[in-house]
Amino acid sequence: MKILLKGIEFDDNVSVAGYQSRGGYESFRKALSMSPDSVVDEVKKSGLRGRGGAGFPTGIKWSFFIPRKTEKPIYLIINADESEPGTFKDRLIMERNPHLLLEGILCGAWALQAQKTFIYIRGEYAYPYTVMKQAIKECYEKGLLGQNILGSGFSHDVIIHRGAGAYICGEETALMNSLEGKKGQPRLKPPFPAGYGLYGMPTNINNVETICNIPFIVQNGGDAYFKIGVEKSSGTKLISASGHIKKPGIYEVEMGYPLLDFINNECGGMLEGRKIKCIIPGGSSTPVMTGEELVGVNLDYESMRLAGSSLGCAGFMVLDDTADMVEVLLNLTKFYAHESCGQCTPCREGGHWIEKIVQRIADGQGRPEDIALIQSVCGQIAGHTICAFGDTMVMPYQSILKKFASEFEAKISLNPNSLVAKSKRLAVLQENQL
Ligand code: SF4
Repeated sequence: MKILLKGIEFDDNVSVAGYQSRGGYESFRKALSMSPDSVVDEVKKSGLRGRGGAGFPTGIKWSFFIPRKTEKPIYLIINADESEPGTFKDRLIMERNPHLLLEGILCGAWALQAQKTFIYIRGEYAYPYTVMKQAIKECYEKGLLGQNILGSGFSHDVIIHRGAGAYICGEETALMNSLEGKKGQPRLKPPFPAGYGLYGMPTNINNVETICNIPFIVQNGGDAYFKIGVEKSSGTKLISASGHIKKPGIYEVEMGYPLLDFINNECGGMLEGRKIKCIIPGGSSTPVMTGEELVGVNLDYESMRLAGSSLGCAGFMVLDDTADMVEVLLNLTKFYAHESCGQCTPCREGGHWIEKIVQRIADGQGRPEDIALIQSVCGQIAGHTICAFGDTMVMPYQSILKKFASEFEAKISLNPNSLVAKSKRLAVLQENQL
């Protein structure tokens, strides 16, 4: 079933005419014939959950704007700052299906009675930015954006804004600060964006993939969408698959699809002669799962949670038995230490401390107490920061250290000065004497 990738194989999909030739913008016309509240009701019925990582129900998020008791303009923000390592699904939508995103925005804007939409796009996404800009321009020319859209009396503007390469600007309050021209640093919550968001106005923020589900829901009804997938995870999900598999790429699967079938069928299985060592399933800030832990697990929010990890934004990285987990952890720690916005001491300092400790282990200079030391620093970071960056950063660290402790111990034992190495040498000497 294709909801999000429908039409991407056609080059003319990036034009209004091409998109309309396959039924495009009919959902928006239908939304205009419905009351805004009934569109919100359909989204609630659909069970759609946010695809940016947290999985919060979209209909409930939208219902924060009902009853409509504010005179202030309402803003819609589309989070297109796709920066989570291993995730590249929104890029494909913007490159090949830009009008699906714009139609989702229009339906959402009608439901929320939003005045303006701001698309915050990752700075590195130069080509998707160009495609989106052209699509927005064409929508203005064809009367699908601007004043009195399609003669309905409804007016809406879309502004696209490029980020400057900071991971943390994917966090919604940092994103709003960045849009306002301030430092891209997260805000303390409350106040929440629905009450006090961009420029102090009530603001709703949705991920690209999330809003792209709305045209289908409007067209077919919330109940029809709810029947796709599994009970607490309805609909389809885009998976960005990468790593040691034969066919990396972006796949749209029904929620609840068996995880091992996904690797073996969609991804073509592991590279020749290799075995699965582990996966990082939801983007780099989710706990790793070993090959043994994948049996019986499905690609949906609940199943992944019960298996001890998270579907996140489905940046699905597969590692085989050649992967060096010390190097994997080092890679992650370098990234997160660099991307901390620096506001909170535990995150700003702790991230670098961990990076240095893992670096010395990788260099053969590790100390026997290092594993416990990293775990202790992780404990000082989680739950002690302004935003969730600190909590999510330590999740892969803790799980890698727990599940692959022997690899770290082996590297530490390479240190000629380490106690482990000394005790091993002693044991060899004693054995020889015996
Ligand atoms: Fe910035 Fe890290 Fe604090 Fe988040 S947790 S506000 S990224 S320092």
